[in-house]
This record gives sequence, C-alpha cells and structure tokens, in this order.
Amino acid sequence: NREIHLASRPQGWPSAENFRLVETEVPKPGPGQLLVRNRYMSVDPYMRGRMNDVKSYVPPFQLDAPLDGGAVGEVVTSEAEGFAAGDWVLHGLGWREYALVDAGSARTVDPDLAPVTTYLHVLGMTGLTAYAGLLEVAGMKPGETVFVSAAAGAVGSLVGQIAKLKGASRVIGSAGSAAKVERLRALGFDAAFDYHDGPVRQSLKAAAPEGIDVYFDNVGGDHLEAAISALRLHGRAAICGMIAQYNDTEPPAAPRNLALVIGKRLTLRGFLVGDHGALRGQFVREMSGWLRDGSIGYDETVVDGIEHAPEAFLGLLRGENLGKMLVRV
Ligand code: NDP
Repeated sequence: NREIHLASRPQGWPSAENFRLVETEVPKPGPGQLLVRNRYMSVDPYMRGRMNDVKSYVPPFQLDAPLDGGAVGEVVTSEAEGFAAGDWVLHGLGWREYALVDAGSARTVDPDLAPVTTYLHVLGMTGLTAYAGLLEVAGMKPGETVFVSAAAGAVGSLVGQIAKLKGASRVIGSAGSAAKVERLRALGFDAAFDYHDGPVRQSLKAAAPEGIDVYFDNVGGDHLEAAISALRLHGRAAICGMIAQYNDTEPPAAPRNLALVIGKRLTLRGFLVGDHGALRGQFVREMSGWLRDGSIGYDETVVDGIEHAPEAFLGLLRGENLGKMLVRV
C-alpha cells in the first residue's frame, strides 16, 4: 500500500517537499470495517487550508500521517453488514491506495447509473456546492444576471450551467486561459473572459454593462472587488471560496470598495456545503436528470498514480485543471 503523508507545513505556496510517499502494509479490516481499494481520489482547494496548523471548520492534517479527502473505490473485504466485496463506495480516506473505512462513513455508489468519478464532483460535493450556493445562498431568480469566477473549474462550470437552466438571463464567467474561456462559451456561458487580459473590473464591465444581480465568488480579491462594483441594488454574492489568497502570507489588498455594500444594500453571504445536506436529495434528482438529457456538461482532468497526487494538488492551485481535478489511484 502506498500513501501520501504531509511531511512539513507549507509557508506560502506548497511544493513537492511538503509531501512524502510512504509504503505500508495493506491493513486488515476489523468488525464494522471495509478494506477498500481506492480507484479515484479528489484534490480540492480546501486542502490547502488544512495544511496549516490553525483551528478551522475542518481539523488540520497531521504531520507524518496520510492526508485524507474524497475517494471512490472497490470493496476488497467487508466486515460490515450491507457491504460486499466488489461494491463501489464513496468515502473520505483518499491519498492512499488501500483504505480501512468504517462502514458508517462509506456510501455505496452505483457504477451503472453514472461514471464512478462523477460521485466526486457533478453528483457529489462540488455539484452540491454549486447548486446550494447559487440557488439557496444567493437565491438566484429567473431573469437575473450572474457572474461566477474560477468558472472553468469544478464548482464554477456547474454554477454557470445551473444558472442558465434555472432561467438566468445572462451568465458571465472568468477563467485563467483562452482555452478555458472558449470552453465556457461551449458550455453555454453568454460571456467569458480571461482575467489575465486586463483589470477584472474592466472586463466585467464590458461583459455586463448593465451590471450583475448575483456573484458566485470562488476567488476573492480583485474579483470580489470588481463584483461589488458591478452588483446592482439589492444584489447578492455567495462567498464560496477565495482561492486567490490561500497561499498568501500577507492579508489581501482587495476589496477596497466594501463601503458600496451599504448604499447598494448588497448581501455578501459565506457558506459551507456541509450545512446544505438537506438539499442533497433534490440536488441529486435534478442533476441526474440534467446529466441524462445532456443539458449539463462537465470536464475532468485526471492525473495517473498515487505518487503524482501532490503534483495534481499543486496543479489545481496553479489552474492546470479544466473541470474537476482527480487522481486515478
Ligand atoms: P476548481 O476546479 O475551480 O480549481 C481551482 C481553480 O481556481 C483553478 O483551476 C484556477 O483556475 C483557479 N485559480 C487559482 N488561483 C487563482 C487566482 N489567483 N485567481 C483566480 N483564479 C484562480 O476548484 P473547486 O471547484 O473545487 O473549488 C472552487 C472554489 O470553491 C474554491 O475557492 C474552493 O475553496 C471553493 N469551495 C468551497 C466550498 C464551500 O463549502 N464553501 C466547497 C467546495 C469548494 P484558473 O485557470 O481559472 O485560474
């Protein structure tokens, strides 16, 4: 069994030296446990926060111990009722080839219903984040104009498409390359821009001259500042993530225009997907339908081999992914 440990805590941008590949014995399941051969694991931006030794909404990763996170795999041995060898399960012990999973924290997934990877994104956590953030947190209504940042990523690409499916009149996305911008247009975004091409505020103004009603923030900083300027009276922002500052060692300079929140009566609302579990049933039903009838498209960037999981994670922070970044274990 090979697994990835946190060797040291990064200061600023993480690097390969912060990780260590470790070989261990394949563990044996005890009563109530499953031995799972992981097949795919997720790397996610929130994992950067867990590398710091600070109190947060999820506990920090421990040094010299395997990292963890979403994974799907096949049950090799089951010592728990309701699971059998050969079942596919979703669980939280990624970053290793073999996982010893308590049955209570594993969920069976059906590989015939959808590709197993989709349970790690479109039909899973990132999908629910997009759905709940846009519809429940920002309360998007038909006819509104929506702007989403990191729009070619796992969450962002779904936010834009769900907005269109729910009747948004105009959807704008920002992303980090010309190829990503092109992909956003193909996915049905009305406008898209590369944020490297000029100040975000200018690009957003050109794409939404009448302003926006909803901003789905994945980036923070200059993107949030631009959105605050573009938001119309009573506009709402769902604050999902601020990836532009996860590796910063100094507090961010933007947004500098927060006072506009007052006059425009804006709502900026942070949220965690974990608080929106009650929406899961409705989300899975609706999203499965959209996937079946082809009204939602998604991308995956798959890196091969557990030994390359750190590179996949670093690549995610650098924007090397189109859609969901995954590791085939
Ligand atoms: P993505 O698939 O969107 O990958 C991250 C992307 O962020 C990269 O592809 C990169 O694309 C972009 N990015 C990186 N640095 C910057 C920067 N400085 N400025 C602008 N864009 C940047 O990841 P996810 O979909 O998994 O997550 C998206 C956001 O949602 C993150 O902020 C994450 O923390 C947050 N999140 C929050 C949850 C919650 O419960 N609140 C749950 C899940 C995710 P590009 O090439 O465009 O720069």
